[in-house]
Amino acid sequence: MSAQPTTDATGATTTVLPPSVSVRGVRASYGRIEVLHGVDLEVPAGSVFALLGPNGAGKSTLLKVMSGRMRPTTGEVLVGDVAIGKTPPEKLARQGVCAVPEGRGIFPNLTVRENLRIWTYRGGITLKVVEERTYESFPVLKDRRRQMAGTLSGGEQQMLAISRALVTEPRVLYLDELSMGLAPLIVAELYELVGKLARQGMTIILVEQFVTTALAVADHAAIMVHGGIEQQGTPADMADAALSIYLS
Ligand code: ATP
Repeated sequence: MSAQPTTDATGATTTVLPPSVSVRGVRASYGRIEVLHGVDLEVPAGSVFALLGPNGAGKSTLLKVMSGRMRPTTGEVLVGDVAIGKTPPEKLARQGVCAVPEGRGIFPNLTVRENLRIWTYRGGITLKVVEERTYESFPVLKDRRRQMAGTLSGGEQQMLAISRALVTEPRVLYLDELSMGLAPLIVAELYELVGKLARQGMTIILVEQFVTTALAVADHAAIMVHGGIEQQGTPADMADAALSIYLS
């Protein structure tokens, strides 16, 4: 695990370790239909954790609960020692919890630059710094800075979404279907960046339909089936199990 140096409002640099994430006995429902039936999961601090499983298994729902966007009916999620769900969203942001949800979480009717300006609202960071960090990782976004985000290609939209994670330096990053609708080359590029973010000191939890891609970047994985965790372990442990579950 690597530590992540951050600069506070006074300009002092502090070192913040990425937290572990614990899911304990989580049940969650849409209306009267329960889709998570008691999930327990331990995500080690600073790891890249892949959540695999067939369509409808409950992966996106679990990410929503883990990132505080959906309340469980019972159970709890802890990020470090902070209880998600009992903590207001603005406090979660200060704790460094960040989600890049399915659907990309960008503002389609704003330009690239205007989207970047929004990332500055977390405080203590200027648009200039945001632009520098973003364009360093994604030079193509510099050429597109006056373009409406909704008219960017799928890959460019995903880059913009990830730039938020680069800029606000969350300690926990949730990535839901990063590869959705993207060409393999762009997916490989984005996952290279995910690996880099992890090495810089983030706990990353991702849902990914491409098992091989996910297992290549992850250092822990779990397979979800019917709203529960079927199996978890190292990518090597999970590779055969994942295949058999997808093929069954
Ligand atoms: P996929 O890989 O297809 O995205 P998933 O594993 O992420 O699937 P979820 O999206 O969490 O699964 O869905 C779990 C179950 O909850 C499914 O049966 C789905 O139909 C249902 N569900 C998801 N979102 C809603 C919603 N907003 N309202 C009602 N039911 C929902």
